[in-house]
Amino acid sequence: MAQPLIYCTPKSNHQIMTVQKGKIGIKTEDIFPIIKKFLYSDHEIFLRELVSNATDATQKLKTLASLGKFSGELGDLTIHVEVDKKKKTITVRDRGIGMTAEEVEKYINQIAFSSAEEFVKKFKTKSQAETNAIIGHFGLGFYSSFMVSEQVEIKTKTYKKGGQTKAVRWECDGSPDYTLEEIEKADRGTEIILHIDDENKEFLEDYRVEQLLTKYCKFLPVPIQFGTKKEFEPIEGKLDKDGNPETQEVEKPNIINNPDPLWKKKPADATDEDYKKFYRELYPYSFEEPLFHIHLNVDYPFNLTGILYFPKLKKDYEMQRNKIQLYSNQVFVTDSVEGIVPDFLTLLHGVIDSPDIPLNVSRSYLQSDGAVKKINGYISRKVADKLDELFKKDREAFEKKWDDIKIFIEYGMVSEEKFYEKAEKFALFKNTEGKYFTFEEYKKHIEKTQENKDKKLVYLYATNRDEQYSYIDSAVSRGYDVLMMDGVLDNHFINSLEQKFKDSTFARVDSNTIDKLINKEDEMPSKLDDKQKETLKEVFERNINKETFHVVFESLSESDLPVTITQNEFMRRMKDMEALGGNGMMMGMGGFPESYDLIVNANNNLITKIMDEGDAAKQDQLVKQLYDLARLSKNLLKGKELNDFVKRSVSIIE
Ligand code: ADP
Repeated sequence: MAQPLIYCTPKSNHQIMTVQKGKIGIKTEDIFPIIKKFLYSDHEIFLRELVSNATDATQKLKTLASLGKFSGELGDLTIHVEVDKKKKTITVRDRGIGMTAEEVEKYINQIAFSSAEEFVKKFKTKSQAETNAIIGHFGLGFYSSFMVSEQVEIKTKTYKKGGQTKAVRWECDGSPDYTLEEIEKADRGTEIILHIDDENKEFLEDYRVEQLLTKYCKFLPVPIQFGTKKEFEPIEGKLDKDGNPETQEVEKPNIINNPDPLWKKKPADATDEDYKKFYRELYPYSFEEPLFHIHLNVDYPFNLTGILYFPKLKKDYEMQRNKIQLYSNQVFVTDSVEGIVPDFLTLLHGVIDSPDIPLNVSRSYLQSDGAVKKINGYISRKVADKLDELFKKDREAFEKKWDDIKIFIEYGMVSEEKFYEKAEKFALFKNTEGKYFTFEEYKKHIEKTQENKDKKLVYLYATNRDEQYSYIDSAVSRGYDVLMMDGVLDNHFINSLEQKFKDSTFARVDSNTIDKLINKEDEMPSKLDDKQKETLKEVFERNINKETFHVVFESLSESDLPVTITQNEFMRRMKDMEALGGNGMMMGMGGFPESYDLIVNANNNLITKIMDEGDAAKQDQLVKQLYDLARLSKNLLKGKELNDFVKRSVSIIE
């Protein structure tokens, strides 16, 4: 056990202190190597820790002043961060409450180190993953400076007057030995001087420090100055020859942060323009305006504020993830929000600030944290309420935004039951004519007309207006309604709605002939008898790819096309799933076979004509032509077959 050379007992505090050497209250000497290597995977957070300590000290002084417990001048409370490349130092200077010698003993030497020691004990017995989870529980903020420094100095002078309140200097070189001595210091507050070691020289570059300050301290509540910046300013009373004010270059303090970010304001005190402006402040490189925002503001059962924006998404979704920034009391924590924000909202933009979000913990720890789980549920509820409000307040505006926000809502509805329960009231269907319906309205709209023979309500849908044009057309011409389901998530969405909607089924317009999909009247009489169908089937089968296309005779109306192609709804969904990589096993077996029905309309005159044709070669030519036309209209005719078709068509015309 390492004994302090002179240990600061309470008694010694009453003596006038000169230079005091000591060992910090720690029984093991391994602490520094551990801090250096493992404590934080990100060395750069040392700056965040020091600047937020300085902020805390400043805020405490303001609180004391407001309570009447500090009556001196507050003065300029700006925190200064300075880099001296020659001396290899970074200095963080505040004018906060400062510390007495006794407080340095207590807060720096003892408390911080006893928790450090506890940490080391745990660290030795746990895996790296577990250590990450432990870190958050230890107040090792200040000591993170040893990750990048060979020596650290503290010069501090308390705000308190009288007694043992002289300024002190503490110094430690990364071994358990420290020095503490009285010094002369004019100004109240604390100055932390880091002597950066050779491995961490990058932190002596101005741009690097500014980058870190901008990342972690952009919204801290006390102004933070890093050097100066040049700005052009109009010279009063001076105009150039064009009558414009003349400007001059001036040095201005380079203030890194906005100490009053919008999310801290009451929603009632902020205008729409404020929200847009703040969006630009968060994302200076984004040129799109957000669709709308949600201002979060709770203090029970946990404390959380923030602003979430619904952005206009581009096709490249992955690129747009991780735009939400997490803060803990205005200190940046992370922009990797998985597990905190519900998954379906990770594409939103904005900020979330909660003191309940622990600072230095791994993501897996965050996800298992009880407070964080509650936050997740709250955000989900709040987003649903806001959408509901927008829908009720101005339906027309909501419809205009629908195509852009539908991806969020559908994602939420398929992944979170509670969100579904709220969203089913404002989620919209859009039909092929561009009209919007709520679920309830749509059900009423099709209830009387779109039942199949099993008494199920049939939701007809299309996924591609151009490719499925003829099928949409034949449904609409019969007075049916067709939904447009062309969103990225619509396949999943349909599957999940089918499980939720009672006595209903979804069918893509080309999954069968429309009269089979919605079949109320009995089938029409057929012009061909069974024997004729048998013969004709053989003619078809010798001209088509039998593996993929299955000949089915149907008695449609005379005006319906002679041959059409449909694809069974179930088979198609399986293929879609397979394409999304959703079914490894089937893929392993070579995948689902392509399979289509070739619907031959037994009542179309061309079909009866082929039946009556005596010349087999002529029969073949006609069948080939019809088969190709059907494939062509379904975009299935390609390459050599397409070429053959074109040549054959030309020869028929000749
Ligand atoms: P934490 O901030 O989590 O308490 P730290 O190790 O960062 O842990 O700091 C330990 C203590 O040292 C703080 O709680 C505070 O009392 C004191 N301290 C650190 N920095 C300052 C500062 N700039 N001014 C006044 N007190 C400070």
